[in-house]
Amino acid sequence: MISIKPDFCDLSFANDELLGIEDYESSKARWCSGCGAHTILHNVQQLCRDEQLPPEKTVFVSGIGCSSRFPHYMKTYGFHGLHGRALPVAGGIKFRRPDLNVFVITGDGDCCSIGAGHWVHAIRYNMKMVVLLFDNSIYGLTKKQTSPTSPLGIHTNTHPRGSVLPPIHPIQSTLGFSNVSFVAQTVDWKPAHLYATLKKAYDHPGLAFVRIVQRCPIWMKDSYEPVVKDPNAITLLQHENGIVIDSKATQKFHNLKEHDPSNLIKARELVETTKDTTPIGLFYQNKEATRYDEYGAHNMGISAEDKTEAINTLMDKYAI
Ligand code: SF4
Repeated sequence: MISIKPDFCDLSFANDELLGIEDYESSKARWCSGCGAHTILHNVQQLCRDEQLPPEKTVFVSGIGCSSRFPHYMKTYGFHGLHGRALPVAGGIKFRRPDLNVFVITGDGDCCSIGAGHWVHAIRYNMKMVVLLFDNSIYGLTKKQTSPTSPLGIHTNTHPRGSVLPPIHPIQSTLGFSNVSFVAQTVDWKPAHLYATLKKAYDHPGLAFVRIVQRCPIWMKDSYEPVVKDPNAITLLQHENGIVIDSKATQKFHNLKEHDPSNLIKARELVETTKDTTPIGLFYQNKEATRYDEYGAHNMGISAEDKTEAINTLMDKYAI
C-alpha cells in the first residue's frame, strides 16, 4: 500500500493565480504507448483545472492494476492500495473528511472480481465521489489473463482455448444494486464525450459510477480496433438531462438514441436492447438517493472540522 503525499512545498496554488493543468501533473505516466488511460488522465487533469480543485483537498484512491497507477500521476493526495479495496478506502476517507474531493480509479479485475463485494456496498452507501472504472476487459498488468468482463471465447493466458463464462456487464450490474444514483458509460477515444461525462459525474451529489471502455493496444488490439474504426459501433444516448456535448461533436455520431436518465426500468431495458453496440451517455441519475456521508455529517451532528480534529487527536497519540 502506498499513500502518496505530493510535493506542495512551493504552494504555488495557494496564491490568487488560477491553477493550470501543470498544477495537477506529477510524474510521467508509464502506461504503454496508445493506452487509453493516457487520454483519461489528461481529461481528469482538465476537469481538476476547470473546477479549480485545490490539490490539497483532492484525493485519488486506487486498487491494483494498470489503471491503478493513476494516483502517482496526479499532483494531489493519493492512495495506491490493495487489490479490490479502493472503494472501502475511499468510503472511509469521504465519511471522515466530507470536505475532500474523492475520486476512485479501478479496473475491471479490481472492481468486478476481487472488489465486487465492495462495489455493491459502495453503490448502496452512495457517498459523494466519482468512481471511474477503466474497463479494458483484460488483466493487463499480469499479461493477458481473463477478467470478469472479457468477451466470451477470447483466448488468454488463463484460457488459451477461449474463455468459457459469459462476461459481467458492469452497467447492468450497477443498475441492479440497491440505492444506485448515477450510472454512465463513455469511451476513451471520444474525448469530448469523455470530458462531458466526467463533468456530469463530478457535479452529481452522490456516488457517480462511470464505466470507461478503455483501449489496451497490447493485449486487446483485436477487440478494440474494430469498435474504434466503425462509426456504427457506438450509440450516443441523448436527453436534455443526460450528458450533453456540442452539436459539432454530436454530428460525428451515426447512431443517436433518446433516453430519459430518470427512468431506472428503461435504463435496465436499454442495457438489454443495446448489447450489440456500445451505448455511451447517462443511463441513470437520481439526485435524491440517500447518502451515507450526509447521514454521517448531519444526522450525527458531526462537522468536517470535528472529524478532522478527531483524526488529529488519534494520530497525535502515535507521535513521538
Ligand atoms: Fe494500458 Fe494495456 Fe499497457 Fe496496461 S498493458 S498499460 S492497459 S496498454
